[in-house]
Amino acid sequence: MLVVMKAHATPEEVQAVCDHIERLGFRAHPLPGAQRTAVGITGNQGEVDRGNLEALPGVAEVIRVSKPYKLASRDVKEEDTVIRFAGTDAVIGGNGLAVIAGPCSIESREQAFTIAGQVAAAGAQFFRGGAYKPRTSPYAFQGLGIEALRIMAEIRERFGLRIVTEALDSESLERVAEWADVIQIGARNMQNFSLLKRAGMLRKPVLLKRGMSATLEEFLMAAEYIMSEGNYEVILCERGVRTFSDHARNTLDLSIIPALQRVSHLPILVDPSHGTGRRDSVLPMARAAIAGGADGIVVEVHHQPEAALSDGPQSIYPGQFASMMDDLGRIAPVVGRSLPRGIQVNVAAGAS
Ligand code: PEP
Ligand code: MN
Repeated sequence: MLVVMKAHATPEEVQAVCDHIERLGFRAHPLPGAQRTAVGITGNQGEVDRGNLEALPGVAEVIRVSKPYKLASRDVKEEDTVIRFAGTDAVIGGNGLAVIAGPCSIESREQAFTIAGQVAAAGAQFFRGGAYKPRTSPYAFQGLGIEALRIMAEIRERFGLRIVTEALDSESLERVAEWADVIQIGARNMQNFSLLKRAGMLRKPVLLKRGMSATLEEFLMAAEYIMSEGNYEVILCERGVRTFSDHARNTLDLSIIPALQRVSHLPILVDPSHGTGRRDSVLPMARAAIAGGADGIVVEVHHQPEAALSDGPQSIYPGQFASMMDDLGRIAPVVGRSLPRGIQVNVAAGAS
């Protein structure tokens, strides 16, 4: 259910509606919009008594939301969600494009600083790097843990990049929430409902990657788990799904971009690295993602990919990253977007 407030409803009237909903034993989610505030109601199995709600001062109407996902739905919030980062130009959603770049894993201070310096110079606003890695093999490199988080905190200080890193479980979630600017929940954890709920209790943006075989509805229901706990800053990320195709690691499903945008207000990023698993496919798919309306890119970059401890074959060279930024700068205006200030679109191209 959704309580739509009148355009000129006062904050006190909105609060009174929230209090009323909570007194009934439900959860109230005030959602301010450009035109008016709406209050989402969750936790109700059946119908809430509309009459009493509609009689409250400032209420315009009470409507049923028919989709299974409520807070993630455009029915509840018409305007696109824009996530801002205090003290920076970095935004995710809206007219700008967000670029999150860095290695698959933080391997050493030197490796992380080298890559961070190069992606910052080419205009990335966010640095990614795994501290806790979800590896298929228990014998593969598992990440440097807290040491990696400390290195990334230094990178934030040094380059002004916002930090994005994955939480694998409730223990790493606590640490990641303390050190990072954006908490990543990986494809393998997209339906780890207890982890999603815990992330929902935090007040930090969550980058939610699509599960390897998740439908659009399952993807949005995972976002809903986070939002139902009161954390509305969810960023969706398409990273490829499993299909019969054997020319790539995964099949990057760019058609989910407009499909998601039709039904949800949440920003959507595309990860062409995990989406293809091949360095030579990353740039074409990054260009296609932006042309297709994505709000930005998550991309793996490594200065020595042949020596990388994880995902070397899909990591692009810093020179290729600069070239990608140049391309995105040209494509952005075609789709009514712009690269944020500070991004140089004429940086020298070519692999280094
Ligand atoms: C990653 O971003 O490093 C990662 C492991 O991604 P995914 O969860 O999409 O496989
Ligand atoms: Mn990776």
